[in-house]
Amino acid sequence: MKYIFVSGGVLSGLGKGIATSSLGLLLKRSGLTVTAIKVDPYLNCDAGTMNPYEHGEVFVLHDGGEVDLDLGNYERFMDVTLGSDHNITTGKIYRSVIEKERKGDYLGKTVQIIPHIVQEIKNTITNVGKSSGANVCLVELGGTVGDMESMPFLEAARQLQMELGKDVVFIHTTLIPIMGVVGEQKTKPTQHSVKELRSIGIIPDIIIGRCSEPLAQSTKEKISLFCNVPVEAVFTAHDVSTVYMVPLLLHEQGLTDHVRDLLGLKKNRTELKAWGEFVERIKSPKETIKIALVGKYTGLKDSYISHYKAFEHSGAKSGVNIEVVWIDAPERGPHYEEELKGLMKELSKVHGILVPGGFGVRGTEGKIEAIKYARENDVPFLGICLGLQLAIAEFCRNVIGLKGASSTEFDENTKYPVVDILPEQLRVTQMGASMRLGAQKCKINEGTLAHELYGKTEIFERHRHRYEVNPEYIDRIQEAGMIFSGISEDNIKMEIGELKEAQYHIGCQFHPEFLSRPERPAPLFLGLVEAAKKYKRSREG
Ligand code: GLN
Repeated sequence: MKYIFVSGGVLSGLGKGIATSSLGLLLKRSGLTVTAIKVDPYLNCDAGTMNPYEHGEVFVLHDGGEVDLDLGNYERFMDVTLGSDHNITTGKIYRSVIEKERKGDYLGKTVQIIPHIVQEIKNTITNVGKSSGANVCLVELGGTVGDMESMPFLEAARQLQMELGKDVVFIHTTLIPIMGVVGEQKTKPTQHSVKELRSIGIIPDIIIGRCSEPLAQSTKEKISLFCNVPVEAVFTAHDVSTVYMVPLLLHEQGLTDHVRDLLGLKKNRTELKAWGEFVERIKSPKETIKIALVGKYTGLKDSYISHYKAFEHSGAKSGVNIEVVWIDAPERGPHYEEELKGLMKELSKVHGILVPGGFGVRGTEGKIEAIKYARENDVPFLGICLGLQLAIAEFCRNVIGLKGASSTEFDENTKYPVVDILPEQLRVTQMGASMRLGAQKCKINEGTLAHELYGKTEIFERHRHRYEVNPEYIDRIQEAGMIFSGISEDNIKMEIGELKEAQYHIGCQFHPEFLSRPERPAPLFLGLVEAAKKYKRSREG
């Protein structure tokens, strides 16, 4: 088992996650099996309770783990399936040490950050790495070198480097800003962050410098000299038009062979043809399709990152560029009517509409109006999780005539609780009724749009929700023309609902965006894109 640690210096948001994912992709395509761990130095035990507006999307894994969105990047780039133990947080480490302390496992010793917390970190990393069965485990250290809270993790990395020797490679990613009229590439921040690393005993093997342009040879030489790394070990990650180019640009500079060499592995052919073709398709779309994303967290696009990625994957497959039109759903208040008008105007300009998942009542009435618009004008529509639930409410209100039909999440006293908590979900936890989380089987009926899209009668998709379509309304809904083409294994939970008399009006209770891959877009997204393409044609006559 070999480990690659990736740390970040100077500032956050440098693209450390993309560098890690890219290297994972390169190593995998050079014939190795890979896995990855994200270390987050915060005290939350997992990302489940974190506000997506502050922290970006909560990514959901097969096993139901609610994790940092970087794990989504790993899964997509490396095409792997990770478990929740691949996201290590300070909270998780402390919880486990404190539980052991309470059980008396430390035999009366004084329990301390060093050695106990650090030992726990090392054990966790090596256990996760080994149990994955992969050849190489990439460990991305969240935060910036010098932060107080990342210290124990860096110390753990230092100790592992000493204990495992050649089986550990340490990569440091930094920023090289360009200053002044002459456009000089500045290495001082890099020098300082490497100095910080060296003061705790870590000498990086490789430095990846993020810069708006390729690093000059003289810049590389300077970094090499002052940071104590060979000049061939300084790589550039310069700004590119799409993140999917990053693996190619690192490979062209020799990163794959360099890392393999450091790990004591012979050079091997790196199969990048299919990836290169995917990147070409992303870079040269034939036309632009506009899709509205009517959501709630549209201020921070990272809160919908997997949706965005699924659109990129689908666009590449379809040969189109997807322009996502971010719309904050109108909320009832003094300006509601005005905002609704604005919404309708925006919607009249797009070729497809997506209502994503979400929690809480804010914006739900506005989203229902968007769905109504989609249904009445036959604009291709995909509703995800909350989006499906609201599509059901819209259909029940406006087609069946159940005035005020809603989900009990938003209206406890609704006369028509068409979406509700099922008795089996009623096990109450600290955060309310328990969530349905992770991958679950969904059976698909033949002869439906869902079957046409998936081409299968059984799929697994990831869930993250509490509420379900209320079984008491299923017959009425189906009789009125919205059929349930996907159902859970126990036949109780409705997984996919589709409007019979529509081009593309479909919703799913699960989150297909989490399983979308560059070369295998999520079928429901691809379907939306294809339908939007047709819609655009028909409108242009
Ligand atoms: N709030 C809804 C529920 O809990 C939908 C959740 C979601 O969209 N992920 O069922």
